[in-house]
Amino acid sequence: MTRFKTQLYINGQWRDASDGGTFDVLNPADETVLATVASGTVEDALACLDAAEAAFGPWAARSPRERGEVLRRAYDLFMDRIEEIARLITLENGKAGGDAMGEAKYAAEFFRWYAEEAVRSDGYLGMAPASGARLMVHQKPAGIAVLVTPWNYPAAMGTRKIGPALAAGCPVVIKPASETPLTMLALMPILEEAGVPPGLVNVLPSRASGAVVGAMLADARTRVVSFTGSTEVGRKLLHAAADNVIKPAMELGGNAPFIVCKDADIEAAAEGLMVAKMRNLGEACTAANRIYVHQDVEKPFVQSFVAKMAALKMGNGIEDGIDVGPLVNAETRDKVEFFVRDAVDKGAALELGGVRPNGAGYFFPPTVLTHVPDTAECLRDEIFGPVAAIQTFLDEEDVIRRANDTEYGLVAYVYCGDMRRGMALAERLEFGMIGLNRGLVSDPAAPFGGVKQSGLGREGGKDGLLEFQETQYISAEW
Ligand code: NAD
Repeated sequence: MTRFKTQLYINGQWRDASDGGTFDVLNPADETVLATVASGTVEDALACLDAAEAAFGPWAARSPRERGEVLRRAYDLFMDRIEEIARLITLENGKAGGDAMGEAKYAAEFFRWYAEEAVRSDGYLGMAPASGARLMVHQKPAGIAVLVTPWNYPAAMGTRKIGPALAAGCPVVIKPASETPLTMLALMPILEEAGVPPGLVNVLPSRASGAVVGAMLADARTRVVSFTGSTEVGRKLLHAAADNVIKPAMELGGNAPFIVCKDADIEAAAEGLMVAKMRNLGEACTAANRIYVHQDVEKPFVQSFVAKMAALKMGNGIEDGIDVGPLVNAETRDKVEFFVRDAVDKGAALELGGVRPNGAGYFFPPTVLTHVPDTAECLRDEIFGPVAAIQTFLDEEDVIRRANDTEYGLVAYVYCGDMRRGMALAERLEFGMIGLNRGLVSDPAAPFGGVKQSGLGREGGKDGLLEFQETQYISAEW
């Protein structure tokens, strides 16, 4: 038996899969098997819905304050065990210690933020203009929510959904990514201790993602599907959700532009790009993917940025002093390597890195490309790795057009000295979030989400709660 939680968590109990199936979770730093985890079946998925259905009424009937207090205790317990959780994130995802701790704190904050928001779900009272009837408007929990999360933030992408769902009064079934199910399973004892009743939060790791999620979306008891992952899978879930008209929240892919204007503080911009590109090793939907630097400042900017990238230390993220761990799996590493080769073949200049090391582990070094041609694949697709692709521009109209020329619209970054121009640029960018002189936009108190094919709905902030609520209006006379 391993030291990890490896079974399904259904109705507050640890269970094997109904057919006894399992799958392996690898450590991306050395490719060894970290744990063998139960692989949920359709039968198990329906058992999750049964448990969630039974938990729904009593939980929704609890006062908002009580629900908030359970979440607040979950935050405190999470913080007590934060080292352990961060370590587990590194083991299964590969990210270095600093990134893992950053994620763990961010993840815990969603419990604290929604503990506070649970008591701030407002309605209103009005009068019908013609009849004079009283219009009472309030929010009700939407019902059972199916949550599907990616591997790049094994804790935070889950808590960002569980926090608001529980605050709103909804039970959940969470299907974590098959690469990284251990962190979410490890959070269940914390939730239990915090007072989450059996059946309210169920965790269903499965290598049959399509079948188990599909079965839950085909069941009319499911009322919300909240997904974070690729646009391709998001589209499939939107189709599946349509049959039962299930409320969707979709956090999908990104292809973030990062614009450095001529009057920007070059040091600050290079530092900002380090965060926007290298946080989480570039394995983030928010990662700067297309970097546009004004031609007049290209040289000092590239010099400063390359020096910062060259100073990063690559290695097993579990060790001290490591900045860059391995990528999550061979497929992601191979894709990153392809992007570099493709760009160089088409004429890009390799300023740093680019060569994958020999030996075990899915490592790829910090890499900087300049003079990247427009035809390079890495400008169309998410790189999802530690590769910075830099281009130049002369004219702001041109850079806005190029930045907006994508089907994605999650986040854009602008570094600019003159804030009036910076604001004007920000407003013309077709993205759900803008980092203006900042390389980081994620914040539990802010509405995270994209436009166009980057998604539907928002997570975090006040808006995040609405994804798990339905508006009810009562027309009354007295
Ligand atoms: P993915 O879409 O392959 O998988 C996400 C989740 O969906 C996993 O749990 C997976 O098992 C499950 N899944 C896969 N196929 C499915 C199917 N047919 N039916 C139901 N579930 C299915 O994404 P990934 O590779 O894990 O994560 C990377 C992607 O996530 C990137 O595109 C990234 O931009 C995106 N992402 C977006 C955000 C955001 O907030 N917008 C945040 C993080 C990651």
